[in-house]
Amino acid sequence: MTETDTLIEPNSKQKKKQSSFEELISKFKAALKTVYHDENDINQMSTSRGIAPEALKKILLTNPHTLLIPREYGGGGGSVKDNLILLSAASYESLPLSLTLGINCALFLQPVIKYGQPEAKAPILDRFVNHQNLGGLMITEPTHGTDALNMKTSWTESPAHYHLKGTKHWAGLTGQANFWLLTARKQTENGLLQRDVDMFVSDNSIASQNIVVEEYFENLGLYQIPYGRNIIDVQIPKNQKLIPHTSGVHMMMDLLHRSRLQFPGMTTGFIHRMLDEGLAHCKQRLVGGKSLFSYDHVQHQLSILQANYTISSALSAVSVEHADIKNDLNGLGFEANIVKTVATDLMQQSAQTLVQLVGAAAYKLTHIAGRGTNDSRPFQIFEGANDILYIQIGESLIKQMKNAKMPNLYAYLKSLKLTSRAAEYFKTELKFDLEQQLQQRKVMELGYIISRIAAMDLVIKMGDKGFRADMINGAVSILGQEIVGKLSSLGFKQATTVVDDYYENSQWLNFI
Ligand SMILES: Cc1cc2nc3c(=O)[nH]c(=O)nc-3n(C[C@H](O)[C@H](O)[C@H](O)COP(=O)(O)OP(=O)(O)OC[C@H]3O[C@@H](n4cnc5c(N)ncnc54)[C@H](O)[C@@H]3O)c2cc1C
Repeated sequence: MTETDTLIEPNSKQKKKQSSFEELISKFKAALKTVYHDENDINQMSTSRGIAPEALKKILLTNPHTLLIPREYGGGGGSVKDNLILLSAASYESLPLSLTLGINCALFLQPVIKYGQPEAKAPILDRFVNHQNLGGLMITEPTHGTDALNMKTSWTESPAHYHLKGTKHWAGLTGQANFWLLTARKQTENGLLQRDVDMFVSDNSIASQNIVVEEYFENLGLYQIPYGRNIIDVQIPKNQKLIPHTSGVHMMMDLLHRSRLQFPGMTTGFIHRMLDEGLAHCKQRLVGGKSLFSYDHVQHQLSILQANYTISSALSAVSVEHADIKNDLNGLGFEANIVKTVATDLMQQSAQTLVQLVGAAAYKLTHIAGRGTNDSRPFQIFEGANDILYIQIGESLIKQMKNAKMPNLYAYLKSLKLTSRAAEYFKTELKFDLEQQLQQRKVMELGYIISRIAAMDLVIKMGDKGFRADMINGAVSILGQEIVGKLSSLGFKQATTVVDDYYENSQWLNFI
């Protein structure tokens, strides 16, 4: 056997793992077909809130929610790559289902597997493996969303347990999840809250750990997933506190960055569906006696959908490289924020593009594109609002350039592994020294540009590995046009602020 043979030929252990993952994914897809197409009509199902317990159970019995649980706990022992494939298969059919699996895995199971205490972990994981349980994460509070580190939910300690008190809202699977990962700050004896954030597992089947839903929200999209406001007043056993390796905030950032890195699983399948629907619609729809497919503008819109699919696929490479739970991702915010912002912006843009191409017929809850605009929109808000993440990307870049004493944007991006290949395409446009004191709005624009350059770099590298050249060229061209446009606007100085008291002298009627 040659060295190439060993690279191509999986060893017997890998073979076994591969075949069992393939088995899981094919059973999972078959269950989606049964539940969403044979026994029900997904478009009708999606107009009412929640999902029938028997329908969800049929899907969960194929074990998509236990894929990443290690084999010693009875799970699928899957890899990040497997998880991305699974999330994509789910989001091609149903974005809410994919998000349900994403929440359960990245926001509950991965942190519990990594930081849970052994004696509590085994029985908790058993409930997922043998009883189709689901978990979620509560960070956000009515008064603290983006600034979650200032959360007010507190914990105190007695000999037998931890006592958590507070209010949390907008946690995905509100009132439905069996387990919750709760975040809280320690209350000291003088009543003040410590700066660090700790995490605890609560089990809703036990009265003293039960979380009360005070109100269910009428969420705009994602009907399958319940959201609401929860009152936290629970007693948590000592062994259900997660044990950070350093600080609690470090642990929380490791969790959030891992979750953000796995977004391409959800976005790629969804965008793939938007592309397939767009192609099918435009080929059969006649306008002015001609197929929509034959119009130049329509070709441009479809090529944007196709570029988005290519870009979202390429983003998965960062995820597979970094997101394994053995890695500490606290310091990987730059990469994680780039992946999350680009992937979710493309998802929303794809849904909007498809609605426009389909026209009025798409403006229905029963149409996947219309529903998709509402379902995909909050991905730009949760787990870090995209505008804030762009600001963080911009700030991080400015700091990196300062530390490296490299003020020239082209020179710096050329030296970065994440941007070096794509930077060459914008040699002229990027050759300027970055101002140190940029307005916040310009830092955001900078973060947006850097995220697109990094995405283009990943697309180019995927092309090197053999992904079809016509789609790579299409994505590079679409990204290139956007990057050049944004770079020219970065230099446009403006500091407009809102006119607060604007009612006086601003009625058009007085000026005609
Ligand atoms: C569908 C959905 C699912 C969710 N799932 C979960 C979940 O499972 N668990 C959970 O804990 N939470 C969840 N959330 C909550 C989500 O994480 C928060 O909504 C998010 O963190 C933003 O917080 P906020 O809504 O309070 O907005 P705010 O913090 O009030 O921010 C609103 C906007 O203000 C601007 N802004 C904020 N800070 C700054 C700043 N420093 N500089 C400039 N502009 C700023 C930004 O434009 C920002 O988008 C979910 C939300 C939604 C809509």
